[in-house]
Amino acid sequence: MTEFCSSIFGPEFNEIDTENYDGQSGLSALEINFGAPACFGFSAYFINGPVTKEELSYEDICGLIDQAKDLGLKKIVFSGKEAISCRYIKDAISYSGSLDIDAIILKDYYQVWTNSKNNIPPICTRHNFSCVVTSYGYVLPCPGLQIPVGNIHNQKLSDILKDSEILCDLKEGINRIKGPCRTCKEARNCRGCRGRAYDITGDYLASDPLCARNEKRRHEIFSLPAPAGRIIPQMPPMRVIDTIDKLGERSAQCSVLIKEEMPFTGKDGSVDRVAYLEMMAQAIAALNGFRNMDSSDSAPEGYLLGAKNLKINKTAFAGDRLSIMVFKYARYGGFGIVKGVVKRDGEILAEGEIKIWHKTDE
Ligand code: SF4
Ligand code: SF4
Repeated sequence: MTEFCSSIFGPEFNEIDTENYDGQSGLSALEINFGAPACFGFSAYFINGPVTKEELSYEDICGLIDQAKDLGLKKIVFSGKEAISCRYIKDAISYSGSLDIDAIILKDYYQVWTNSKNNIPPICTRHNFSCVVTSYGYVLPCPGLQIPVGNIHNQKLSDILKDSEILCDLKEGINRIKGPCRTCKEARNCRGCRGRAYDITGDYLASDPLCARNEKRRHEIFSLPAPAGRIIPQMPPMRVIDTIDKLGERSAQCSVLIKEEMPFTGKDGSVDRVAYLEMMAQAIAALNGFRNMDSSDSAPEGYLLGAKNLKINKTAFAGDRLSIMVFKYARYGGFGIVKGVVKRDGEILAEGEIKIWHKTDE
């Protein structure tokens, strides 16, 4: 038996919970996937640091079910090829039953997406009421959207759901989707498959490129890597990032080719240490700008307030291609603290924290 990932929890969840959705951290349904990878590359870098190989124990699973129950859990699905052979699966199902939670094991895994039926995606609202937790503890928005938004080994599930910008964007539905889907006549109900949009464009908010209704408008769908010039206000020579390459939970990876004519490049071609801070600040501005492209909200105006714990390991020179990874790890109203790392060929040149402020409604 093969199911579609959009319908595994049934219409009662799609209809009732979408209409009654009233908070960022509510959760009616949960999937624990025993077949998902242990490593999500850049997307997991800031969430867990080096890849964790720590599998969930029976106690971890019961703790997770308890946490989810407090958030409103009614149904749990154990999926992935290894689910059926997991030594504590029967106990986990009994434990769910003792809490009045329906539990099923999905013996064969299901289809994430298909190109059948003229390639119109199913109407899918799973992000509104469910999430996936992998056997390594990573929390994913849905089976096809494999961007970790946290890890239950080091955070409470409710905090992960509440703090996730990706889940918040997904729950806002069509208002956050970029490109042609926004003007489709089906947009009130449909938001395309976020999993296949992310796989193809690198952007979980892109219009669904495989939908037949978008066939003649695919050139309007933006993909990563995207030029920073369209996203941040800084113009050359003050622009010190070239492209935004990857998106993750409150994180982005950007890149720049260092040029002699940049104001931070000295006569000997070396890059001034101040430039690393500016790269981190522009990378976070690119993340905010990219999330807000095409949405009714404009990218918030922001400023770099200061820096701490800056460590410069090596110097960059004109001709070097650098990648800049940033992660917003704390927010207090309009203030935020961002961790940043600048690398050249995988080697860390500089790392530190910057404090930023951006305009909020409060
Ligand atoms: S968005 Fe796509 S991949 Fe995710 S649950 Fe829905 S149909 Fe599946
Ligand atoms: S164009 Fe977008 S909104 Fe319209 S049916 Fe296709 S995926 Fe759904």
